[in-house]
Amino acid sequence: MPRALLLGIALLLCIAASSHAQWTLYKISGRDYVPLENVANFYGLGHVQHVGNATVMELGGRSLKGSVGSVEFFINRLKFNLSYPITEYGGVPVISRMDLTKVIEPVLRPQKIKNAELVDTIVLDAGHGGHDNGATSLYGNEKSFTLDVVNRARMLLMQAGYRVVLTRSNDTFIPLEDRCRIANQYANALFISVHFNSGGAGTGLETYTLAPRGVPSMMADGPRISDFEPCAGNINDSENIALATATHASLVVRSRMYDRGIKRARFVVIRDITIPGVLIEGGFLSNDYDARLIATPAYRQQMAMSILQAVQNYRRARGPADAERDGGAQLRARVAPGGNEYADAARRQPDGQRGAADGDHERGGGELRRALRGGS
Ligand SMILES: [Zn+2]
Repeated sequence: MPRALLLGIALLLCIAASSHAQWTLYKISGRDYVPLENVANFYGLGHVQHVGNATVMELGGRSLKGSVGSVEFFINRLKFNLSYPITEYGGVPVISRMDLTKVIEPVLRPQKIKNAELVDTIVLDAGHGGHDNGATSLYGNEKSFTLDVVNRARMLLMQAGYRVVLTRSNDTFIPLEDRCRIANQYANALFISVHFNSGGAGTGLETYTLAPRGVPSMMADGPRISDFEPCAGNINDSENIALATATHASLVVRSRMYDRGIKRARFVVIRDITIPGVLIEGGFLSNDYDARLIATPAYRQQMAMSILQAVQNYRRARGPADAERDGGAQLRARVAPGGNEYADAARRQPDGQRGAADGDHERGGGELRRALRGGS
């Protein structure tokens, strides 16, 4: 157990006209933590409950759930992998300040992300190609499956009115740096890289987005010096986690595959791009169940539909609870070929509502920053 040292001083802050939240900061192994009870208060989630090993906070359809000693954290039932495990201080469950500001805040209040409604271009990146087959299976290679998903997503996005750019449209090898260069030519754009996993008996879906500065990559143990070097993509930390949330939610809801969660990494294609981006791992080619599924056109079409839905939900900059509800509705209604969801989405979101939400968020975001700086 790390030696814990209480540094913090309780701050009494005015969160809203009618409520007050008291933040306590703890320093554990040189890192700042806040009690989950504070988090629950701040976001109006009521009191922390303990159900078995888990700490649960739930109110009005929004929920947070985590367990002491684990990095697995569920926001509205979608799995996130925290940078640091939930831990305890004096019997109180606490979460790192890094995870509060880089995961919980942008996910619970995605209205903060800038210019989401202006997005009109989607850069789709089919992983591997040419001499680089990627992962292999009895049923085919990663490079072919990624290109097929991207082509299917391209059709759906174009039908919905988006401009679509492909980093590759045939079986050629494109260096990672060139993929970033292509992405960085566009403004008001999103980058979605499609891959399939391999490794042991692993199964299920994971969505990667760029690790914020100082956050360890989940591909390595603990923070390294290089984790503190700024990356081009870090200008979009809030947008990146919002896009990852929208993408992962639609993939998990549609496919019903095992949810491995949203993860952080510094893969070149998500590190060196200046537009928001994610990298999808759509199942394991090394796992027979996943590989058979990936080999079916129906599964790849579902992935393409998830990409379209993710873009639509991101563009509306809404929370994962809303996105999940939409996912369910769309599963039932099915998307008619040639249907214009883009126009429907615009009709469902009057401008006046957006303005109000943005204003609310600006006040809220400022409060969180002030609270955690320790001054007010
Ligand atoms: Zn790959």
